[in-house]
Formats: sequence, structure tokens, C-alpha cells
Amino acid sequence: MIEETTILNTLKEYFGYDSFRPLQREIIDTILNGNDCLVIMPTGGGKSICYQLPALLQDGLTIVISPLIALMKDQVDGLNVNGIPACFLNSSQSTAEQEVIFNDIEAKKIKLLYVAPESLSYLENIFSSTKISLIAVDEAHCISSWGHDFRPAYTQLGFLKNRFPNTPLIALTATADKATREDIANQLNISNAKKFVASFDRKNLSLEVRPGTDRIKQIIQFLNKRPNESGIVYCLSRKTTESIAEKLQQAGYNAEAYHAGVNHDGRSKVQEDFINDKTQIVCATVAFGMGIDKSNVRWVIHYNLPKNIEGYYQEIGRAGRDGLPSYTLLFHSYADVVQLQKFAEGAGNSEVQLAKLERMKQYADALSCRRKILLSYFGEFIEKDCGNCDVCKNPPQFFDGTITAQKALSCVARLKENENIGLVIDVLRGSHNQQVLENGYQNLKTYGIANDISWRDWQHYIIQMVNLGYLEIAFHQKNTLKLTPQAKEVLFNNKKVALTKPQDTLVTEKAANTKQE
Ligand code: ADP
Ligand code: ZN
Repeated sequence: MIEETTILNTLKEYFGYDSFRPLQREIIDTILNGNDCLVIMPTGGGKSICYQLPALLQDGLTIVISPLIALMKDQVDGLNVNGIPACFLNSSQSTAEQEVIFNDIEAKKIKLLYVAPESLSYLENIFSSTKISLIAVDEAHCISSWGHDFRPAYTQLGFLKNRFPNTPLIALTATADKATREDIANQLNISNAKKFVASFDRKNLSLEVRPGTDRIKQIIQFLNKRPNESGIVYCLSRKTTESIAEKLQQAGYNAEAYHAGVNHDGRSKVQEDFINDKTQIVCATVAFGMGIDKSNVRWVIHYNLPKNIEGYYQEIGRAGRDGLPSYTLLFHSYADVVQLQKFAEGAGNSEVQLAKLERMKQYADALSCRRKILLSYFGEFIEKDCGNCDVCKNPPQFFDGTITAQKALSCVARLKENENIGLVIDVLRGSHNQQVLENGYQNLKTYGIANDISWRDWQHYIIQMVNLGYLEIAFHQKNTLKLTPQAKEVLFNNKKVALTKPQDTLVTEKAANTKQE
């Protein structure tokens, strides 16, 4: 038994904290009692201490399996600064460097050894000569092809529990979907592990979704209200990260691009300058952020729709780790959905990917509290609406949109369900665009019947009608709009359709700010 005061003193001495965050204490006790754990905790929740503290409290060596070779050195340096004897092993080291580490371990000078799954074979000698007190598998979702970050090398980790049946094993991840959790426990042979699922609710993060029109203009307006605040703009493609960084620089902002195509030194520099507040804004692909511990990121913008909720939640989770109010803004564009749909269809497990994308889309289209939707994805239920998302702050106003809907649906019918959203809107608004005229659409009855509604508003209404099930987008037929059986009810039986007015994005922001103050 380890004394309560020893545990608290170690926490204070090595990490500088006076108390534990939720679940940390229970997890540590479970390990100290020799039992396996599966820990599901959001990014920033404080997973590391769950194995670092037991490592210090027990005799022997703790092995930490981590996928992030690039960040191992930083992690280990951070521990060493705090006086924690830790080191790492990976393929980038020379035999001489590895020799030094082996000797230190033999001499019991090391408490934590970080190792990439690919390098586990280097440990044979250590396994037979050293007492292993704990095995930690970080980013454990990498083991599962159900997760969003599959690493084949992780799948061999199942041997660890068989080889060390009496050594506690802790698997940690911020990925929460049920299929992945079960897969992790099964593959690691720890199906009896005690499961700890921390709350995924990060109340200090405000949530907002806006239509993806004039995005740069909207971002600059957003930034003008937040001078010198650190933030990340996540983009889908490398090219976009560069073009956005450039546009922000032109607008006078201190912004840099980051993606996997930038060379190693360039990436390290961007990362370091961001952490040290020398660079205010990083425009990045999802390659940026894993393992970065910066507590004062004040906002995260998603320039493009993320491909699933896990990724989105992990990325917005990089804001506000210090617990202070922080903003997140997601741009929702129909073009992104089409692109992501294509990616998903090309992926190995396309059914899973498509289903995940669908959930992401539902979140972005939500007309009720977004946090409720987000948390329900992670299996969590909150009684009350959150009051800190755009829907709560500015609830949608419904109006009788039956006539608007009938106009759109009859236009789709007259176009023989053969055209996409853009062209349907052009016809409704009586556009003279070439494609309209070439097809003779100016002669249709529905041509120009609704030019009092702006292009952007029409887009909002039509997408809403898709979400309400009156229209379908045929992704395999050039994204043409199709009528559903319910559409016929609206067209022929005068079924009522309630629609919401598009939010004026500037008004939204003003309203949100007033309520904050
Ligand atoms: P995760 O791995 O879950 O993303 P970390 O272990 O990196 O989270 O911890 C996130 C942040 O919270 C770090 O800055 C860490 O120092 C801090 N932290 C962790 N535990 C505590 C605690 N008990 N008290 C205060 N801060 C903590
Ligand atoms: Zn809400």
C-alpha cells in the first residue's frame, strides 16, 4: 500500500499540482492495485499523469508505447526538466546512443521508457533482465481500423499482456466510439480492464457553425475582435493551408502554414514559434497539434468540414486547455461534403467512413443544442441545453416555408431531377448563365419565380429541405437533386413545411458577444 501523502507529495513535487483532475486518482489506484485500465479521456483531460505518476511510485520500469516518434524527444525532455528519469528508444538513434540507454536501465536509473511500436523488438534484453512495473499504450485507438488513425504496427501489441500477465497494462485514448473501445480492449487482451470514461464536455469551448461563404472575410472579422490571441485554422488540403496563411499575412496577421509536406525543420520551427507565442496563427492540416501542449490557444477555426466527429472534437479540444473561455468556429460548405464523400468512398472501410461523415454533417446542420449532439456521439447525455453554442444563443426562427419549398420542388421536377443545386437556384432566380440558356431553361414555368430570395438563402433552404427529407442529392449522378416521396406530399397535398431563416453571421457574432459580456 502506498500512503496517501506519498501520492500527493509526488504529484506536487514532480508535476507541481495540488490535486487530481477527475478520474486520475481512481485510475492511478487501479494501476497500483495491479489491474488493467482502459482510459477514454478527451485531449487535454490529463491522461499522461495516469501512468507517469504510478511509474514514479513503483519499483521497476514503465514502458510507454507511443506512435509519435517525432514528439518522443519533446515528451522525454519535458519529463527530465521536471526531474523525472525518462528516455526513449526509436530507430533514429545510433547503436551507441541505445547502448547508453540500455546501461542506464540496467543500472535502474530510468523510470519511464518511451518506445514506438515498431521498435519493441529492441527491448528483448530489457524484458528478460528488468522488472517491468507498468505498460502504457498511449493513443491506443491506433490499434483499431475502426478508429480514425490506424497504425498497422499497433496490431502486434497483443503479445504484451500474454508475456506479462501480472504487469498492469493501461491503454489510453481520446477516441470514444464504442466499436473502437471494444476493439482496443480485445486486441490488447485486456477485456477485463476497468474502463474509465471521462466527461467529454468542455464547457469553456463555445461552439459555432457558419455557412462557408466568404470565409476569408469572415475569418478576418473574427480575428479583428481577437487581437493577438493564438489560434489554429484547420484546412483539408496542404494547398489551402498555404493560401490562407498567405491571405492572412497580406491582411497583416502573423500567420504560418503547417502540413506534412513542409520539411522537418520547417515544421519544428512553426510549432515552436506557435508554442512560444512568436506566431499567432497556424493554418494547418490535421497533421498539426498531436501532442502539442499549449494551454492558451484561444480559438480554433475549421475552414473545411472535418471528416468525422472524433477528429473535429480532438481539434477543437486544442483550444482552451487552461480552462478559460475559448471559441471554435466551423465553416460548413456543401462543396466540402461532396469532396469528403468522395474520399470516404475511396477509403478501405468506406461504409464506416461514410457513416461517420453523415454524423458530422448532422452536427453541422443541427437546429438544436450542438453540445448535446456532440456529447451524445460520445455516449454522454446532458439534461439542459448548453447555452454556449450558436443554436442556444440564437435559436433558429421557424416560418411557414411551404410556398418556398413548393417553388424549389417544382423547379426540381421541371428540370427532370437532372440538375444540381447550383443550377436549380439559377433557374429559380432567373439567371442568364450560359448553362441555363443553352438548355432552354428560360422557357420553363419555374424560371425566375423566386428571384426575391438571394442565392445564399436559397442554398440554405435547399440544404434544409435535403436534411428534412424532401430532396436527395444523388452523389453518384453528378450531385443532381432528386425528389423524395415526401416531396410529392408537399407538391400535391399541400403538406406544410417549416423552414428556418438563414442567420446573419454578423448579427450572430454580435449577439453572442453581448451575451458573453
Ligand atoms: P492529454 O494527454 O489527456 O491530452 P495531458 O496529460 O497532456 O492531457 O494534460 C493536459 C494538460 O493538463 C497538461 O498541461 C497537464 O500539465 C495538465 N494537467 C494534467 N493533470 C493535471 C492536474 N491534476 N492538475 C492540473 N493540471 C493538470
Ligand atoms: Zn447549446
